[in-house]
Amino acid sequence: MIAFHNKIFDNNTIRKKEKAKWDFNVIVIDAGHGGKDSGTLGVDGIKEKDVNLGIALKLGKEIAEKMKDVKVVYTRKTDKFIELYRRGQIANEANGNLFISIHCNATPKKPSDANGSEVYLLRPGRTKEAISIAERENSVISYEDNPKRYQKLTDENFILVSMAQSAYMRYSEKFADLVNKEFGKDTGIEPRGVKQAGFYVLVGASMPSVLVEAGFLSNRKDAHYLASAKGQASIANAIFDAIKKFREVYEKNIEAE
Ligand SMILES: [Zn+2]
Repeated sequence: MIAFHNKIFDNNTIRKKEKAKWDFNVIVIDAGHGGKDSGTLGVDGIKEKDVNLGIALKLGKEIAEKMKDVKVVYTRKTDKFIELYRRGQIANEANGNLFISIHCNATPKKPSDANGSEVYLLRPGRTKEAISIAERENSVISYEDNPKRYQKLTDENFILVSMAQSAYMRYSEKFADLVNKEFGKDTGIEPRGVKQAGFYVLVGASMPSVLVEAGFLSNRKDAHYLASAKGQASIANAIFDAIKKFREVYEKNIEAE
């Protein structure tokens, strides 16, 4: 006979523990690229990695100042190369409640007219444009030691690969929608909507997750706005306002469940 010495929890204790897991207290900010990976290059030599980090640090600072009960975790705070799979790991180890990956877009031709922000959810890409943006962002795995660790995100294996994410999809959708709306109110960047594609960086994080393409570095107006401290602060503020609204919805829903 096997003796069980485990502490037995009554249902209430288990419920409380389950809820504590959902308490909104950790936000993970992921500044895309870094180090040997500059990301996309914009007009006037503007590097995506620098813009992403600028926005990420300003966003983290604003959360630390205005949402004191929430801990900010960065996947990088300096100009450092971090593998894509590691970014999701950092988020999971921190028990994050929200994962925000910050990036900038560009067209191959520079300068060009394409402009505006997009917010991406992890789902099979449905437009040629969305697929090519995910391909560009995913291609940085060529800088990594073992790019084979990533499974190609085909329609067939998408559900399996993105399973860790699917439980949080309705929250990811809500947050993506809020970020898109706040861009329209607070920034000099035109919001181009919520889209979907297979970004590797979103695969591993087990929490509501979005990837923000904050604007086009190939567009002169967007690029100069994105590279300026004022522009970065406005974008950080737009994302912060979305977090504030998201938190209300999130906490209300968790309480009702
Ligand atoms: Zn990027």
